[in-house]
Amino acid sequence: MKEEIKAHNNVLELIGNTPLIKLTKITQKMKGNYFAKVEAFNPGHSTKDRIALYIIEEAERKGILKPGDTIIETTSGNTGFSIAMVSIIKGYDCILAVSSKSSADKIDMLKTMGAKVYVCPAHVSADDPRSYYEVAKKLHNEIKGSVYINQYFNELNIDAHYQTTGPEIWEQTAGKITHLVACSGTGGTISGTARFLKEQNPDIKVIGIDAYGSVLQKYHQTKEFDANEIYPYRIEGLGKNLIPTATDFNIIDKFEKVTDESSAHTARELAKTEGLFVGYTSGAAMQGLKQLEEEGEFTEDSNIVVIFPDHGSRYMSKIYNDDWMSQQGFIDSETAEIQQIEYV
Ligand code: PMP
Repeated sequence: MKEEIKAHNNVLELIGNTPLIKLTKITQKMKGNYFAKVEAFNPGHSTKDRIALYIIEEAERKGILKPGDTIIETTSGNTGFSIAMVSIIKGYDCILAVSSKSSADKIDMLKTMGAKVYVCPAHVSADDPRSYYEVAKKLHNEIKGSVYINQYFNELNIDAHYQTTGPEIWEQTAGKITHLVACSGTGGTISGTARFLKEQNPDIKVIGIDAYGSVLQKYHQTKEFDANEIYPYRIEGLGKNLIPTATDFNIIDKFEKVTDESSAHTARELAKTEGLFVGYTSGAAMQGLKQLEEEGEFTEDSNIVVIFPDHGSRYMSKIYNDDWMSQQGFIDSETAEIQQIEYV
């Protein structure tokens, strides 16, 4: 019999179909059954691979994008990496307008993936012509055949998860899911996944994780934007200082807020208990689960799915670095959890 070579045509074929992994140790004293959808298994190591591929392929289907055209976005984070990766394979130019707050590591990573990076001043208002929003808009207007992804205000961000993450979770749980818990940044992940799941079973409860310092929870409760809620916080990718249209607030039952400090410790705990090396917002989502359980949200029969958005490797100079943790006051440097290795 002739053996076939088993190979993927390119890295994009590995996007989606991420595993659902049972959490058993960190949840030992908690009521209910807990399952993590671990998005770090995407080739770009985050859930943003899904939206980058989906939005770019939608633009291709509509005839908006042709080979050699340009894709523009304003992010130095996961979305930037995913767009750069999809652009490389599909033959598009990728331009990312990022804030000067972005670390040199992040900028180097995007350049490595072939992106052209515009570094824009961080401390100017969003409508200043030098801001990364305005620079992206200007480039989009100037470059013929360019597409501006604009993830916070793009309905396709929701659709990407409606088409992929939602059906995957429904199938993986054999329809037995009772709760969906997910971080909310643009809101695309939670809104699209929940929309699909609630169409299958409207009783599924959907809980968003928000940060202290963000407006999302208050807006959900009052339908009013309250600028007093806004103050700086450390977790990246969670919560927001504006109301994204990529969030469907009607489909979310409630928001739970978590702190920078507890989320960082819980991310470290996930590595030490479940062997899951995941990002800061995964720690935030797990921290949210702990709080919700304490508040009596779950019973022994609950099947709770939590989405872990990205991989831990992007946070080596932050939550997985003892110096950073002690600078934030999150650990006592005398009792640092990760010991320094001594070389002889
Ligand atoms: N975690 C991380 C690390 C992210 O980058 C994002 C996206 N901003 C989220 C969570 C939230 O996902 P979404 O934007 O789909 O709400």
